[in-house]
Amino acid sequence: MKAFTYERPATVAEAAKAAGQPNARFIAGGTNLLDLMKLQIETPAHLVDVNRLALDRIEATSDGGIRVGAMVRNADLAADERVRRDYGVLSRALLAGASGQLRNKATTAGNLLQRTRCPYFYDTAMPCNKRRPGSGCAALQGFNRILAVLGTSDQCIATHPSDMAVAMRALDATIETVTPEGTERKIPIADLHRLPGDTPQIETTLTPGEIITAVTLPAPVRGRHVYRKVRDRASYAFALVSVAAVIEADGSKVRSARLAFGGLAPKPWRVADAEEALVREGVGAAGEAALRGARGYGANDFKIPLAKRTLAAAVAEAMRA
Ligand code: SF4
Repeated sequence: MKAFTYERPATVAEAAKAAGQPNARFIAGGTNLLDLMKLQIETPAHLVDVNRLALDRIEATSDGGIRVGAMVRNADLAADERVRRDYGVLSRALLAGASGQLRNKATTAGNLLQRTRCPYFYDTAMPCNKRRPGSGCAALQGFNRILAVLGTSDQCIATHPSDMAVAMRALDATIETVTPEGTERKIPIADLHRLPGDTPQIETTLTPGEIITAVTLPAPVRGRHVYRKVRDRASYAFALVSVAAVIEADGSKVRSARLAFGGLAPKPWRVADAEEALVREGVGAAGEAALRGARGYGANDFKIPLAKRTLAAAVAEAMRA
């Protein structure tokens, strides 16, 4: 690990200002960043420890929703009574992620900002445009079984690995931030993560030093909440495909649907056409709409039919609930 300096600011304003320095990084749970530093994939000159900022509460909002502090641990968010009762898809997605130990450390903001698990991103002997811009993408012709089939470019086909973010996408979460200049922003989760295009190393729309302070969820969405995750082993594995579904039904008739997918794209993936197709035409049409434009790269071709089957299983589970 390379040498770095460290500070533990007492306020959000101080933290954002400190992180605005060149090559500074926030550290919270450290469940991703420390691994990357040990491999010298991340080599920050300065670490800004945000663990003591007062951002660890879950509060009711005036419009009937909740505001989740950026430092709320994944385990605490999953166990919160309001989340379990009103945002079941979020609680289930959190519990499908990582392991108990990791969920005890990992934070809400850190979960959103974790880096891809593409194997070539972690292998410093291989070309990777995300790790070293312009070096190439070993995954295009390589071992791409876990990688993306939607939203890709010829520069990068990495997936975003979060389960939590997929559920938050279905729930229309908003990300609250503060910049080093003190400007407060509210970013719809749909706009937080970027597609790779020609600059896969730039993964979010956050500006340097901008700190996530909270995630707000609007008032609870009526319907049955399902999170279905397909992975290579039953625990402690990233999604090959996941589906977050909130479905309002009247008997066997779907009245409204929210559908978001994980494991398929560089960001949580939601397609309005698929939700409308589920209501009007059924799950087959929804699957076709959700995967429209999907492209496999060889070893991950199976994800396209798997995603359609996983959607069908999630919808069936919701209708049974
Ligand atoms: Fe790197 Fe992205 Fe290619 Fe993986 S898919 S090797 S992260 S550029």
